[in-house]
Amino acid sequence: MNIILFGPPGAGKGTQAAILEETYGIKHLSTGDMLRAEIASESELGRRVKGIIDAGDLVSDDIMIELISNRIDQPDCAKGFILDGFPRTVAQAHALDTMLQAKERNLDAVIQLEVDEEELISRILKRAEETGGARADDNEETLRNRLQVYRRQTEPVLPYYRDKDMLKTVDGMQDIETVTKDIRAILDPLA
Ligand code: AMP
Repeated sequence: MNIILFGPPGAGKGTQAAILEETYGIKHLSTGDMLRAEIASESELGRRVKGIIDAGDLVSDDIMIELISNRIDQPDCAKGFILDGFPRTVAQAHALDTMLQAKERNLDAVIQLEVDEEELISRILKRAEETGGARADDNEETLRNRLQVYRRQTEPVLPYYRDKDMLKTVDGMQDIETVTKDIRAILDPLA
């Protein structure tokens, strides 16, 4: 089973993906985590993307598409994957379709987590406090840019999946367990 968890920063994609990874035995792929690992290892790619991520802007489509294309070919994705943070642009969504077709794989569902903007901001600022500011982009100013980038560049991906009749929406304002229950009601019949 291959799915996309879709939503703005702070919507709970990472939290839910970690639970779904256990439930269905499919791999959680967070592009943000992958990029942060590149930065931590001081790789060539890490050096190229650090400034972009710290500013809350988007890394180029070419880089992201190649990263995901290589990652889903790894053996740990054989049973399926949960995309968290990809696709973030319409071009990425198109490229994902093309690559999955070439790999003879399908997308089973796109689940959108809906959360009010004020709640997103308070969740991320809380995360920044709890993690002692581990993420340079979890501050109020960068967060506002990330939300604007989401609205301008990422939200336009939604109609693409809506038109394909693949989009399911879950109320992400509920507690973690209830959100999981709602997602499972969508995915259990597909598993
Ligand atoms: P996240 O952990 O998903 O919030 O991602 C952190 C940062 O990584 C984002 O603000 C972007 O700078 C970058 N990033 C992650 N995924 C993508 C993507 N699919 N396309 C472009 N940039 C991305």
